[in-house]
Amino acid sequence: MDRRKFLKGTALGLIAVSAPVSLSAGNEPVRKVAKSGRLNLSYKPNELRLRHAFNLARNSRTTTPDVLVELEYDGIIGYGEASMPPYLGESIESVCKFLSMLDLQQFSDPFRIEEILSYVDGVMPDNRAAKASVDIALHDLLGKIMGQPWYKIWGLSPEKTPNTSFTIGIDKPDVVRQKVEEAAPYKVLKVKMGLDNDKELVEIIRSMTDRPLCVDANQGWTDKEKALEMCYWLKERGCMFVEQPFDKKMIDETAWLRERSPLPIIADEFLQRLPDVMRAYQVYDGINIKLMKSTGMHEAYKMAVLAKSLGMKLMIGCMTETSCAISAAAQLAPMAQWVDLDGNLLIANDSFDGVKVIDGKITLFDKPGHGATPIK
Ligand code: MG
Repeated sequence: MDRRKFLKGTALGLIAVSAPVSLSAGNEPVRKVAKSGRLNLSYKPNELRLRHAFNLARNSRTTTPDVLVELEYDGIIGYGEASMPPYLGESIESVCKFLSMLDLQQFSDPFRIEEILSYVDGVMPDNRAAKASVDIALHDLLGKIMGQPWYKIWGLSPEKTPNTSFTIGIDKPDVVRQKVEEAAPYKVLKVKMGLDNDKELVEIIRSMTDRPLCVDANQGWTDKEKALEMCYWLKERGCMFVEQPFDKKMIDETAWLRERSPLPIIADEFLQRLPDVMRAYQVYDGINIKLMKSTGMHEAYKMAVLAKSLGMKLMIGCMTETSCAISAAAQLAPMAQWVDLDGNLLIANDSFDGVKVIDGKITLFDKPGHGATPIK
């Protein structure tokens, strides 16, 4: 029996239900009546509970709204996810509205990725996380049909995956100490900055460990001279790069800092999608690609190829997400200098089993698609 027939015979088919559309987490999935030989989409609101309050330079929160997506084709199911940190402007309501507008049953060949995702992209502008959820589910589905994980389909070598960093958020000294202890299995620490006590935070971490650091200012720095002084200070303390030092609109200041900084300056909030890579090339040394910004794996891969062809440094990052979207992003990890895929480790209710951190690295394995499966 070939693999596809086997999967078709064993996977649970979608059940046709006429449930009312409800947008609170924990409710039944929203589905249309499934059609055979067609792409059948269903989705369900979810809420991610964070292990620690997540404090950034500009906000703080304890939960992240999330939507889980399934894309079924001939009995095979691909899983996807949209995660919506509130500052990005999407919500459970906006994602569910977007998904309700899609007619994916018009497609009978799931391999027409360009055609399917161009259609999804054209339904409404923006809605990047909503689009990513469909893209991730489609890639998972296709990988399962082909029986291969995406890093293999893309021709990447899993042993080239760099160490993944663990995020230490802005917090009180005793909480920072506790987080550094929690981060013991990780070989790189990512420190969130952007407040007055930035140096104090680094000194606390350095009193506990000499592991390499990277710094994410999340647009929190405002003074270019102070930023340059901080870059030199951080370099002496084993920092590898600085991510998004200034507000994304402070382009002249960023270019000024990049010319003088002893550390690479990496764009995060500055860029979202493929055309933004060329804009970032003018002002930054590298880019942080996240699936929830890029509209998913298809465009993220194109961004990674473009950035590398321009000689830019590449980082693969994430939002707070389940192991579903993290496993999808991890497929690109062998292309990157730095990997920051700890979003699943920051939540208390991960509903997927996916890639694991082994000896400080996200470890890619042979499961087809993105490799993450729902925890029943
Ligand atoms: Mg960042």
